[in-house]
Amino acid sequence: MSRHAQVVIIGSGFSGIGLGYSLKKERFEDFVILERSADVGGVWNLNTYPGCTCDVPSHLYSFSFAPNPEWSSTYSPQPEIRDYLHTCLERFGLRPHLRTGVDVTGAAWNEADQLWEIETSDGRWTANVLVSAVGPLTEPKLPDVPGIGRFRGKVMHSARWDNDYDLAGKRVASIGTGASAIQYVPRIVDRVGELFVFQRTAPWIMPHDKRPITDAERARFRRNPAAQKRERDKVYLSKEALLLGFAKQPKLMKLVEGLARKHRESQVADPALRAALTPDYLVGCKRIVPSNEWYPALQKPNVTLVPKALREVRENSVVDADGVEREVDAIIFATGFHVADIPFADRVRGRSGELLQDHWKGSPRAYLGASVPGFPNFFMFLGPNTGLGHSSMVYMIEAQVAHITHAIRALDTTGATAIEVEQSVHDGYNRRIDAKLATTVWELGGCTSFYRDVNGRNASIYPDWTFRFRRDNVKWRADAYRLTTGPASVTEGVTPAVAAASAIAR
Ligand SMILES: Cc1cc2nc3c(=O)[nH]c(=O)nc-3n(C[C@H](O)[C@H](O)[C@H](O)COP(=O)(O)OP(=O)(O)OC[C@H]3O[C@@H](n4cnc5c(N)ncnc54)[C@H](O)[C@@H]3O)c2cc1C
Repeated sequence: MSRHAQVVIIGSGFSGIGLGYSLKKERFEDFVILERSADVGGVWNLNTYPGCTCDVPSHLYSFSFAPNPEWSSTYSPQPEIRDYLHTCLERFGLRPHLRTGVDVTGAAWNEADQLWEIETSDGRWTANVLVSAVGPLTEPKLPDVPGIGRFRGKVMHSARWDNDYDLAGKRVASIGTGASAIQYVPRIVDRVGELFVFQRTAPWIMPHDKRPITDAERARFRRNPAAQKRERDKVYLSKEALLLGFAKQPKLMKLVEGLARKHRESQVADPALRAALTPDYLVGCKRIVPSNEWYPALQKPNVTLVPKALREVRENSVVDADGVEREVDAIIFATGFHVADIPFADRVRGRSGELLQDHWKGSPRAYLGASVPGFPNFFMFLGPNTGLGHSSMVYMIEAQVAHITHAIRALDTTGATAIEVEQSVHDGYNRRIDAKLATTVWELGGCTSFYRDVNGRNASIYPDWTFRFRRDNVKWRADAYRLTTGPASVTEGVTPAVAAASAIAR
């Protein structure tokens, strides 16, 4: 027997909780949030590696409608963000809507019944609207290295850290030098016996401006939420200004490079090590990471920087690209996530029965990163071209919350049974994205990055001002969507319900 909800949301990170808040605010109660983990919080529940911290200031990396005056630091550590999301869940009254430990394994649109049929580890659901809030950094990625399965020691991915495993005195290989490794390496370096840090590409490291938030500041934010709002606005504007370099005038990134170079020179004295730590692409082309602890950690006596790719794993050792073998007890993969191949696209089938992944043919595209023709009543959070290199993803999520709420309201307040983005609107939007991408640092910066899909297109980054993304999401364009009643074979195009829906939505 299947259960039914008008809206099924998959995932309980910022996206799922943000949409839940908005639906409750609209007095819309018939929805569930299905979460495969035992707890809510998304990446902030799952990433428990030492030193896990957001790298966007906390005042901006939180919901605008739920400011938190209690942040301990200008950049919050993972447990505080996880606790913040717990508090949001309770405060917004979402607990009764949540089902944890439920893995959504597949979903297919039933055109005859105008419903989504959803398969889960806990049985079947049907829904009028299906929302994927599974997150872009949800599926850890392991490199395709020969021998990985043969290793006899401990293997873990940074996103699935085993806090019960004692690293004390161990010989450890850490693979990858992205944002996660840069955070945990300084935290484990004094505990492990020996640490080999494998670096295929040197990252750009900026000086970090983090500091504790004082008791007096917290008291002020509690007393006067407007003061915290002003801080948030300041952070937003300073981040947004960076887009000038990232997307409008990549030459401006040379100024950023100057700051990063000085940081490196002030922290790394040895010219050979400094050369090995110098990136060979324009700053911003890959994610920039702030850290004051990364370079000092790499210079500890028990650390060896291996500026090479990992070539092979053997039973008790790792082998670098030059064939040098090093015995280790543990391997930590900080090798990122499946990003450009959009998680969940391999599980959702649209009107024709085609998987979204096959529909995309390797190059994901969507209208506002949320909707795809042929996939009625289906919306994605943080779908294609919604990622940022310079600001808070929570800002993008809030914009999409507004858009998806509009769409659900349009369906709910009319007799329409299906809402689907117009092909021409979808295509026009993506032409604009492609044109904007062409002049950005992600295209011109001379790097390969996880932002690119298998066809080489940047399917990850939103290349424009974030306030424009917000405006396009918040202002509902009724002509962007077609509302219909009944199966496509019965009803052609716009029905009387559509006119009503358009009028209401406007
Ligand atoms: C370590 C780390 C640090 C980050 N730091 C920053 C930062 O500083 N600034 C920033 O802007 N962004 C940062 N991000 C990006 C982050 O992904 C977004 O900011 C944001 O948290 C995404 O929220 P979400 O709710 O969309 O997805 P997630 O937080 O990923 O939540 C998705 C949820 O969906 C669940 N799920 C997935 N598949 C299924 C399924 N099939 N069935 C049921 N449930 C499912 C998952 O278990 C998870 O709980 C970071 C990401 C990571 C991993």
